[in-house]
Amino acid sequence: GLHGVPTSDEKQTAKDYKSDQEVRWCPGCGDYIVLNAVQSFLPTLGLKRENIVFISGIGCSSRFPYYMNTYGMHSIHGRAPAIATGLATQRPDLSVWVVTGDGDALSIGGNHLIHALRRNVNLKILLFNNRIYGLTKGQYSPTSEVGKVTKSTPAGSLDTPFNPVSLALGAEASFVARTLDSDRAHVTETLQAAAEHRGSALVEIYQNCPIFNDGAFDVLKDKDEKQRRIIPLSHGEPIVFGPEGEQSAVVRNAAGELAVAPFAEVASGDVVVHDAEREDSSFAYALSRLGGVNLDPTVTGVFRSVS
Ligand code: SF4
Ligand code: MG
Repeated sequence: GLHGVPTSDEKQTAKDYKSDQEVRWCPGCGDYIVLNAVQSFLPTLGLKRENIVFISGIGCSSRFPYYMNTYGMHSIHGRAPAIATGLATQRPDLSVWVVTGDGDALSIGGNHLIHALRRNVNLKILLFNNRIYGLTKGQYSPTSEVGKVTKSTPAGSLDTPFNPVSLALGAEASFVARTLDSDRAHVTETLQAAAEHRGSALVEIYQNCPIFNDGAFDVLKDKDEKQRRIIPLSHGEPIVFGPEGEQSAVVRNAAGELAVAPFAEVASGDVVVHDAEREDSSFAYALSRLGGVNLDPTVTGVFRSVS
């Protein structure tokens, strides 16, 4: 089986992973796509369903375990990584998944998340990021953009948002990825890579909330497929070298121009962009280690995978 999780002899389909509970998200919610992707992808792992557990916190996405025909727990706000840590460390024969949102994981449960990541507990964490508190009807969240006008920030939010990918890399997470709900093939590909990873896997999923934050990720839909794919970094892989053999990166500078810059010239505040022609995430990864450089929030893909 997968990292010691026993496999099943039964021929599984997505239907086997659907519970008898009525799915109660708003019409058009991105959560439906992710739920369907998970239910379709799990049969390909061929694990015993009784050895799979989904643990959630509080929020819209945290209703997820109800809809899965596996074991599960709808736990307390922000604490899913702590509960899942206890389970995963005591029961290595289980495939343990955490489902959380941007408020749940990054505000209420911020500490639990970073410590689960740094301990490299064998958990697959699906962070549904809709950049809003949906369940409590639309307050700004730790990932809402500066200036966001919501019921709790009528004059616009003053806070700089977290970039969950940067946060996870900073916590030395061994697998960090980002995907987009509407790109189902990429969601599935990313889930597969996360499942195969042994250790903590943080998968940020940009998730549209049509009710309180509609269209937050539309900018990504305009990108072509190639731009949205980044190949995983492998352990021990050398840092990418630029065209002239020097370490370099493609950055967008303060003037908004794209440029290939040697690492030494990359300034704090420059934004790393993906070089579609070279398809190599080493750029983004290497720069994230320099400090002061944000990963471009419009890039999806696997940012780090270290065994
Ligand atoms: Fe989905 Fe938003 Fe409705 Fe919550 S409030 S179920 S995130 S559409
Ligand atoms: Mg949210």
